[in-house]
Amino acid sequence: MKVAIIGAGVAGIAAARRAVQYNLECTIFEAIGSIGGTWVYTENAFTDEFNNPVHSSLFASVRLLTPVQLMEMEGLEFKPKNKSSYPGHAEVLEYLQNFAKKYELEKYVKFFHKVLKISREPDCWKLTVKNLKENSISDHLFDAVMLCNGRHSKPKLPRIHGMETFTGDQIHSHNYRRNNSYKDKRLLVVGAGTSALEISLDCSKVTQKSYLSYRSAAPKTELGEKIEIKPQVSLIKGNEIHFKDGTCAVIDSIIYCTGYEYDCSVLDSSCGIELIDGGILKPLYKMFINAVQPTMCILGLATRTIIPALADLHAELFVKHLIRKVNLPSSEEMVQSFEDEYRKKREAGIEAADFYNLGLQMKEYFDEISKMANTKSLLPVKFRLREYSREYRKKNYLTFREQQIKIIDDENFECCG
Ligand SMILES: Cc1cc2nc3c(=O)[nH]c(=O)nc-3n(C[C@H](O)[C@H](O)[C@H](O)COP(=O)(O)OP(=O)(O)OC[C@H]3O[C@@H](n4cnc5c(N)ncnc54)[C@H](O)[C@@H]3O)c2cc1C
Repeated sequence: MKVAIIGAGVAGIAAARRAVQYNLECTIFEAIGSIGGTWVYTENAFTDEFNNPVHSSLFASVRLLTPVQLMEMEGLEFKPKNKSSYPGHAEVLEYLQNFAKKYELEKYVKFFHKVLKISREPDCWKLTVKNLKENSISDHLFDAVMLCNGRHSKPKLPRIHGMETFTGDQIHSHNYRRNNSYKDKRLLVVGAGTSALEISLDCSKVTQKSYLSYRSAAPKTELGEKIEIKPQVSLIKGNEIHFKDGTCAVIDSIIYCTGYEYDCSVLDSSCGIELIDGGILKPLYKMFINAVQPTMCILGLATRTIIPALADLHAELFVKHLIRKVNLPSSEEMVQSFEDEYRKKREAGIEAADFYNLGLQMKEYFDEISKMANTKSLLPVKFRLREYSREYRKKNYLTFREQQIKIIDDENFECCG
């Protein structure tokens, strides 16, 4: 059976590892020149050497937000080089590349091959692929497809009255790389999620003044004296920013840390998947399997989870289903399951942006998918560590990366620092 994997980031290498383990014939199409996806840092902030939008949203000083143990994939320990359990992006990339080496995955990757379109033929999948180096386009046929193209590359910008009148420079966090262009500037960071916190902290080392504007909830963490917290922006007029509390600030630069949209533009309508409500893929079974054409899955959509472990588990279930080691419900039942999930979440007031947020149901979800895949669920210590590290980070944003975390056994971990 021939399986195509699109993307060689965390999800793509997890998928490839399981596909190879179960003897599928696997081809990975990767638009850039290395394994690692988001973790391949590039100084190019906007376009790459082929004039395509850059994929990675990393800025130079990024360090892990989650401890190394939560970036680990089964089969390879992630040992940080220094004491902190939160190393910089270069170490994460090295880990992912070592994982690919250990499982000899590189030989399956076609680097600089960008998938332009995935379409359904009567009994196979057709991928239209551009060889970026040769500037040529060709079609390739497969029995199954695992789409692992990432969810942090297509910026979502807010609609703010007057934003087109702003006289300074404004970018999305996707395009932010270094703080040096903000030296002595008056900066506004829009957003209150982790990128907003990270980027405002990075920039506040050099700015004259930084503001962070939140929409629904102010950050509950200490950010230091140099960052002033403001409510939502109500109007931009030239270089004046007006906030909802009636205050105003004069600003030189804006960075919008307002999140990402999932880019599903490669999916032709013949795939049977439709983007609804601006962010939900209909009908995905259990948030990753194409319910109408179950030889396709999409990995890496879930948020507020342990990303590598979930990609691995999804890959294992999907591959076992392809080789008929496990049975999934019928297509009709899977579509119905999506409809039920959709209705429940909408009734509960969950917005499209939070549809794939596993949040409090994470352990339950892992247990359910593991049972379906006939494999063991993630160790309890990992769920505990995730909850602990999230809460600790929220309360100690300026210092959480000093911690050194050690896993003691399947249930327990210890922290120093
Ligand atoms: C600033 C930042 C910090 C983060 N910090 C953490 C953290 O601390 N902990 C954590 O768990 N997660 C973190 N993340 C989330 C991170 O995205 C995941 O850890 C993980 O890397 C996602 O992997 P992925 O394989 O799903 O996607 P990606 O890493 O985005 O990989 C997708 C790959 O697909 C390729 N691709 C896309 N489209 C095509 C196409 N059409 N054809 C061919 N190839 C294609 C891309 O080139 C890329 O290599 C962070 C993200 C960002 C942006």
